[in-house]
Amino acid sequence: MAKKQFKAESKRLLELMINSIYTNKEIFLRELISNASDALDKRHYLSLTDPSRKVSSKDLKITLEADKENRTLVIQDTGIGMTAEELEKNLGTIAKSGSAEFRAQLEKAEKNIDIIGQFGVGFYSAFMVAKRILVETRSAQSDQAYSWSSSGEDGYIISPIEKEQIGTRITLTLKEDTDDEKYSEYLEEYKIRDLVRKYSDYVRYPIMMEVTRSIPDPTDDKKTIDTKEMETLNSMIPLWKKQKSKIKDEEYNEFYKSKFNDWEDPQKVIHYNVEGTLSYTALMFIPSRTPYNFYYQDFEPGLRLYSRGVFILDKAKDLLPDYFRFVTGLVDSEDLNLNISREILQQDRQVRALARSIEKKIQNALEDMLKNDREGYEKFFENFGLNLKFGIYKDYGINKDKLQDLILFRSSAENKYVTLKEYIERMKEDQDKIYYACGTSVEEIEQLPVMSRIKDKGYEVLYFLDERDEFVSGIMRDYDGKEFQSVSSAGLDLDSEEEKKEKEEKAQESKGMLEAMKDALGSRVKEVRVSSRLKDDPVCVVADEGISLEMEKYMANDPMNKGTGVRAVKILEINPSHPIFAKLQEIYQNDPEKLADYADVLLNQALLIQGLPIENPVEYARKITDLMIG
Ligand code: ADP
Repeated sequence: MAKKQFKAESKRLLELMINSIYTNKEIFLRELISNASDALDKRHYLSLTDPSRKVSSKDLKITLEADKENRTLVIQDTGIGMTAEELEKNLGTIAKSGSAEFRAQLEKAEKNIDIIGQFGVGFYSAFMVAKRILVETRSAQSDQAYSWSSSGEDGYIISPIEKEQIGTRITLTLKEDTDDEKYSEYLEEYKIRDLVRKYSDYVRYPIMMEVTRSIPDPTDDKKTIDTKEMETLNSMIPLWKKQKSKIKDEEYNEFYKSKFNDWEDPQKVIHYNVEGTLSYTALMFIPSRTPYNFYYQDFEPGLRLYSRGVFILDKAKDLLPDYFRFVTGLVDSEDLNLNISREILQQDRQVRALARSIEKKIQNALEDMLKNDREGYEKFFENFGLNLKFGIYKDYGINKDKLQDLILFRSSAENKYVTLKEYIERMKEDQDKIYYACGTSVEEIEQLPVMSRIKDKGYEVLYFLDERDEFVSGIMRDYDGKEFQSVSSAGLDLDSEEEKKEKEEKAQESKGMLEAMKDALGSRVKEVRVSSRLKDDPVCVVADEGISLEMEKYMANDPMNKGTGVRAVKILEINPSHPIFAKLQEIYQNDPEKLADYADVLLNQALLIQGLPIENPVEYARKITDLMIG
């Protein structure tokens, strides 16, 4: 059989594994046992659903064999096995190899090996300790068995072999010991026993090994003799079936890492048991970082579904609402039909009830975290908050009530995260709106001309730093009866009655000038008017009802809308207390020709401050220079 090469990305990863400096090499055993356990789950399921493939439960097991002489460690299972195609597909390539993101991450991975776990490359971790790997496997669906062997970078060979038993046998030939790494430790009984207890105790199938025991010698009771016997190394109680109070954090963490492809501990564990018309146990996790492909199509959300401890389906996505798709984990129910398939999952009444219950629990867990672990919640929100916001504005906002208390915004009060509830609670008495400002950074927003006046008023402003925030407020319209109000929209009203009167007078006095400026600017603005939102700055531009300035920016960058020229209707506002106001009046009186240039320069200035493009930068620059020269 010809030797085949690994796909390019797999090869890079393999090199990383082979030359790994990762200190926690021992996890290779956890990965291989976890694969074996998954394979047994699949075989068990097949046996229950297809009478012609029946297998007795006592035959479902994992066996470990250590051979010191030949430096080999064998991990054998009686699971589902693999066909030749599956061998090729599963062990010859990395599933996600096509993604550009993966390649990019891999480039950085050398120093940060953490990334590896995210890509489902558990099997390859064996190359951290083995110089050669032989996989012998026979699928439950095929009479022909195959072997796959590889010494690493130079490729692999698949050949047909004789193998009586269904399942997979993996033989690792360990690397030679070095000063730093004693690979032969993995052949020691005590070490293997330790590792199984530490990482794989909860595996539902027996993990067996032949162990040596000293027993009294029947012929001479002063002596002992060594006998060999098979021993089950794990307790076999699924972790989620154990009592919560008896589970150590470390156990949860190890379980999560081995089952859900992460090398980092989860941020939050949600473990509970429900008894009633629908009984089930759930063990769910919130990862402590955003999976690299979370916002891409190839991210597969969902929970693992078990029925009375029997694995049914992986990634059952109907168990989770889209806005909680960052949750991973498993659900084990007493009441589900074993024959449930992915297709009918959504229609099943029990499953729908299950999904509703799970949703409620996740929501409670998040609310609880927000209340009792603010720091943790903020970290969670930085990872997954965007997804909650999506949840609010998706489907015309039907889920907004469930989610609106879970979102956070930065705000002008101490520049930290606040909830809408907190905002409302400390609103000033005379304030009847929730104010927000859009921008790409806190600094940018704080420099907006309108901010100083608002600060003087003592109003808190929410910082919409994400372009989607305005979609959220748009869909919500109000929170607790208080409407959202952009500080850059025409509707902002900060003046007292007295101030209004004063401005009205100013506007009347300078009516002619304002109209002349509007005429000079033509269709670029709807109006030029006296501002009530400015304190120190001369001018600003605001948006009339409808498309906001932020939306205009967003649309201009959005590939779907590019070129459609969707624009906000703009109003140019002038600060009546700024010296520029008097100057403009003077020019209007004495040199009306020049007013058009001033109007143009001021509008462009206002646009630039808002981060909006100006039509003709060259002309703008020229006009400024002309004005400087006088
Ligand atoms: P993951 O387990 O995250 O999918 P791995 O690289 O560990 O990634 O394994 C790749 C695939 O190879 C598995 O998804 C499974 O289909 C198959 N596989 C690995 N080990 C076994 C085994 N012992 N029995 C059957 N299939 C296996």
